[in-house]
Amino acid sequence: MNIARILYPVKVLGPGNRIGIWVCGCSRGCRGCINPELWERRPECEISIDGLYAAILGIASKHKVDGFTVSGGEPMDQPEDLNALIIRLAAISKDILVYSGYKYVELRERGSEHIQNILSAIAVLIDGQYVEELNRDVKLRGSENQEIIIMNGDFNKKYENHLKTARNRIQNFMTADGVVSVGIHRKEFRSKIASRIHKRGDENG
Ligand code: SF4
Repeated sequence: MNIARILYPVKVLGPGNRIGIWVCGCSRGCRGCINPELWERRPECEISIDGLYAAILGIASKHKVDGFTVSGGEPMDQPEDLNALIIRLAAISKDILVYSGYKYVELRERGSEHIQNILSAIAVLIDGQYVEELNRDVKLRGSENQEIIIMNGDFNKKYENHLKTARNRIQNFMTADGVVSVGIHRKEFRSKIASRIHKRGDENG
Protein backbone atom coordinates (compact mmCIF):
# COMPACT_ATOMS: atom_id res chain seq x y z
CA MET A 1 0.00 0.00 0.00
CA ASN A 2 1.26 3.50 -0.73
CA ILE A 3 1.32 5.31 2.61
CA ALA A 4 2.65 8.76 3.41
CA ARG A 5 2.49 8.70 7.20
CA ILE A 6 1.00 7.23 10.36
CA LEU A 7 0.51 9.57 13.32
CA TYR A 8 -0.62 9.07 16.91
CA PRO A 9 -2.39 10.46 18.93
CA VAL A 10 -4.54 12.28 16.40
CA LYS A 11 -7.19 14.10 18.47
CA VAL A 12 -8.69 16.38 15.85
CA LEU A 13 -10.10 14.02 13.21
CA GLY A 14 -12.67 12.06 15.17
CA PRO A 15 -13.32 11.21 18.82
CA GLY A 16 -10.53 10.20 21.20
CA ASN A 17 -6.91 9.36 20.62
CA ARG A 18 -6.73 7.94 17.12
CA ILE A 19 -4.17 6.51 14.80
CA GLY A 20 -4.20 8.62 11.64
CA ILE A 21 -3.15 6.99 8.39
CA TRP A 22 -2.48 9.12 5.28
CA VAL A 23 -2.26 7.41 1.91
CA CYS A 24 -0.39 8.70 -1.15
CA GLY A 25 -2.11 9.14 -4.48
CA CYS A 26 -5.12 11.19 -5.55
CA SER A 27 -6.19 12.25 -9.02
CA ARG A 28 -9.09 14.48 -8.01
CA GLY A 29 -7.14 17.75 -8.01
CA CYS A 30 -9.43 19.78 -5.71
CA ARG A 31 -8.44 23.45 -5.74
CA GLY A 32 -7.03 24.44 -2.34
CA CYS A 33 -6.42 20.82 -1.27
CA ILE A 34 -4.54 20.87 2.03
CA ASN A 35 -2.34 17.90 1.04
CA PRO A 36 -1.24 18.39 -2.59
CA GLU A 37 2.08 16.76 -1.70
CA LEU A 38 0.10 13.50 -1.38
CA TRP A 39 -1.32 13.53 -4.92
CA GLU A 40 1.50 11.40 -6.32
CA ARG A 41 2.20 7.84 -5.31
CA ARG A 42 5.82 7.35 -4.38
CA PRO A 43 7.75 4.09 -4.78
CA GLU A 44 9.60 4.72 -1.51
CA CYS A 45 6.23 4.91 0.31
CA GLU A 46 5.13 1.42 -0.73
CA ILE A 47 4.69 -0.84 2.30
CA SER A 48 3.14 -4.28 2.68
CA ILE A 49 -0.06 -4.63 4.69
CA ASP A 50 1.87 -6.87 7.09
CA GLY A 51 4.53 -4.18 7.56
CA LEU A 52 1.94 -1.45 8.01
CA TYR A 53 -0.07 -3.48 10.47
CA ALA A 54 3.07 -4.32 12.46
CA ALA A 55 3.78 -0.58 12.81
CA ILE A 56 0.18 0.06 13.91
CA LEU A 57 0.29 -2.83 16.35
CA GLY A 58 3.49 -1.35 17.78
CA ILE A 59 1.57 1.82 18.66
CA ALA A 60 -1.56 -0.02 19.86
CA SER A 61 0.46 -2.30 22.16
CA LYS A 62 1.77 0.73 24.09
CA HIS A 63 -1.08 3.25 23.86
CA LYS A 64 -4.85 3.44 24.08
CA VAL A 65 -6.28 3.59 20.57
CA ASP A 66 -9.86 4.88 20.38
CA GLY A 67 -10.13 4.55 16.62
CA PHE A 68 -8.57 5.10 13.23
CA THR A 69 -8.85 7.92 10.72
CA VAL A 70 -7.79 7.18 7.17
CA SER A 71 -7.19 10.13 4.88
CA GLY A 72 -4.81 11.18 2.15
CA GLY A 73 -4.60 11.32 -0.79
CA GLU A 74 -7.54 9.19 -1.81
CA PRO A 75 -7.89 6.00 0.27
CA MET A 76 -10.51 4.50 -2.08
CA ASP A 77 -8.03 4.53 -4.99
CA GLN A 78 -6.26 1.61 -3.30
CA PRO A 79 -9.35 -0.51 -2.60
CA GLU A 80 -7.77 -3.93 -2.38
CA ASP A 81 -5.08 -2.85 0.07
CA LEU A 82 -7.46 -0.67 2.04
CA ASN A 83 -9.89 -3.54 2.40
CA ALA A 84 -7.10 -5.82 3.66
CA LEU A 85 -5.91 -3.13 6.07
CA ILE A 86 -9.38 -2.42 7.45
CA ILE A 87 -9.97 -6.09 8.24
CA ARG A 88 -6.82 -5.93 10.38
CA LEU A 89 -7.62 -2.57 11.98
CA ALA A 90 -11.07 -3.78 13.04
CA ALA A 91 -9.36 -6.29 15.34
CA ILE A 92 -8.03 -3.29 17.33
CA SER A 93 -10.97 -0.88 17.01
CA LYS A 94 -14.05 -0.85 14.80
CA ASP A 95 -14.20 2.92 15.01
CA ILE A 96 -12.70 3.45 11.55
CA LEU A 97 -13.37 6.78 9.88
CA VAL A 98 -12.45 7.12 6.20
CA TYR A 99 -12.27 10.37 4.24
CA SER A 100 -12.91 10.03 0.51
CA GLY A 101 -13.12 12.57 -2.30
CA TYR A 102 -15.75 10.33 -3.93
CA LYS A 103 -19.40 10.58 -2.96
CA TYR A 104 -20.95 7.54 -1.31
CA VAL A 105 -23.19 6.95 -4.32
CA GLU A 106 -20.17 7.04 -6.69
CA LEU A 107 -18.42 4.45 -4.53
CA ARG A 108 -21.49 2.20 -4.59
CA GLU A 109 -21.75 2.55 -8.36
CA ARG A 110 -18.17 1.47 -8.87
CA GLY A 111 -19.38 -2.05 -8.10
CA SER A 112 -16.00 -3.08 -6.65
CA GLU A 113 -16.24 -5.89 -4.14
CA HIS A 114 -13.38 -4.39 -2.13
CA ILE A 115 -15.13 -1.05 -1.88
CA GLN A 116 -18.39 -2.69 -0.81
CA ASN A 117 -16.48 -4.59 1.87
CA ILE A 118 -14.82 -1.40 3.05
CA LEU A 119 -18.16 0.42 3.25
CA SER A 120 -19.64 -2.47 5.25
CA ALA A 121 -16.73 -2.58 7.69
CA ILE A 122 -16.11 1.07 8.55
CA ALA A 123 -17.88 3.17 11.19
CA VAL A 124 -17.96 6.49 9.33
CA LEU A 125 -17.44 7.78 5.81
CA ILE A 126 -16.85 11.48 5.17
CA ASP A 127 -17.44 11.83 1.46
CA GLY A 128 -17.05 14.28 -1.40
CA GLN A 129 -14.42 16.50 -2.94
CA TYR A 130 -13.06 19.54 -1.16
CA VAL A 131 -14.66 22.76 -2.43
CA GLU A 132 -12.67 25.74 -1.26
CA GLU A 133 -15.58 28.21 -1.50
CA LEU A 134 -17.56 25.96 0.86
CA ASN A 135 -14.85 25.81 3.53
CA ARG A 136 -16.96 27.25 6.36
CA ASP A 137 -15.43 25.65 9.43
CA VAL A 138 -17.95 22.80 9.56
CA LYS A 139 -17.11 20.06 12.02
CA LEU A 140 -14.79 17.34 10.79
CA ARG A 141 -15.30 18.47 7.18
CA GLY A 142 -13.09 20.53 4.93
CA SER A 143 -16.10 21.92 3.09
CA GLU A 144 -19.82 22.06 3.62
CA ASN A 145 -20.74 19.84 0.64
CA GLN A 146 -19.07 16.86 2.32
CA GLU A 147 -21.27 14.58 4.40
CA ILE A 148 -20.63 12.60 7.54
CA ILE A 149 -22.25 9.22 6.95
CA ILE A 150 -22.47 6.84 9.89
CA MET A 151 -22.04 3.44 8.26
CA ASN A 152 -22.30 1.42 11.46
CA GLY A 153 -25.23 2.34 13.71
CA ASP A 154 -23.28 1.25 16.81
CA PHE A 155 -21.35 4.53 16.43
CA ASN A 156 -24.33 6.88 16.18
CA LYS A 157 -24.17 8.03 19.80
CA LYS A 158 -20.39 8.36 19.92
CA TYR A 159 -20.28 10.60 16.85
CA GLU A 160 -23.43 12.51 17.81
CA ASN A 161 -21.77 13.43 21.12
CA HIS A 162 -18.49 14.22 19.45
CA LEU A 163 -20.11 16.51 16.90
CA LYS A 164 -22.07 18.28 19.67
CA THR A 165 -19.04 18.97 21.83
CA ALA A 166 -15.96 19.08 19.59
CA ARG A 167 -14.75 22.06 17.62
CA ASN A 168 -12.33 22.05 14.73
CA ARG A 169 -8.76 22.29 15.94
CA ILE A 170 -5.32 21.94 14.43
CA GLN A 171 -2.63 19.66 15.79
CA ASN A 172 1.00 19.90 14.74
CA PHE A 173 3.26 16.84 14.73
CA MET A 174 7.03 16.99 14.49
CA THR A 175 8.10 14.25 12.04
CA ALA A 176 11.30 13.28 10.24
CA ASP A 177 9.99 15.34 7.27
CA GLY A 178 9.33 18.44 9.38
CA VAL A 179 6.13 19.71 10.95
CA VAL A 180 2.89 18.10 9.78
CA SER A 181 -0.25 20.09 10.50
CA VAL A 182 -3.35 17.93 11.00
CA GLY A 183 -7.03 18.83 11.32
CA ILE A 184 -9.64 20.89 9.51
CA HIS A 185 -7.85 23.95 8.19
CA ARG A 186 -9.38 27.26 7.25
CA LYS A 187 -8.97 28.15 3.59
CA GLU A 188 -6.46 30.92 4.43
CA PHE A 189 -4.13 28.35 6.03
CA ARG A 190 -1.79 27.81 3.07
CA SER A 191 -1.49 31.50 2.16
CA LYS A 192 -0.78 32.39 5.82
CA ILE A 193 1.97 29.79 6.05
CA ALA A 194 3.45 30.98 2.75
CA SER A 195 3.46 34.59 3.94
CA ARG A 196 5.06 33.62 7.29
CA ILE A 197 7.81 31.71 5.47
CA HIS A 198 8.26 34.66 3.13
CA LYS A 199 8.53 37.09 6.08
CA ARG A 200 11.02 34.85 7.85
CA GLY A 201 13.04 34.72 4.63
CA ASP A 202 13.05 38.54 4.55
CA GLU A 203 14.15 38.72 8.21
CA ASN A 204 16.98 36.25 7.60
CA GLY A 205 17.98 37.86 4.30
S1 SF4 B 1 -9.88 14.38 -2.85
FE1 SF4 B 1 -8.86 15.03 -0.99
S2 SF4 B 1 -6.67 14.60 -1.30
FE2 SF4 B 1 -7.68 14.50 -3.30
S3 SF4 B 1 -7.39 16.57 -4.16
FE3 SF4 B 1 -9.38 16.52 -3.15
S4 SF4 B 1 -8.98 17.27 -1.05
FE4 SF4 B 1 -7.02 16.69 -1.96
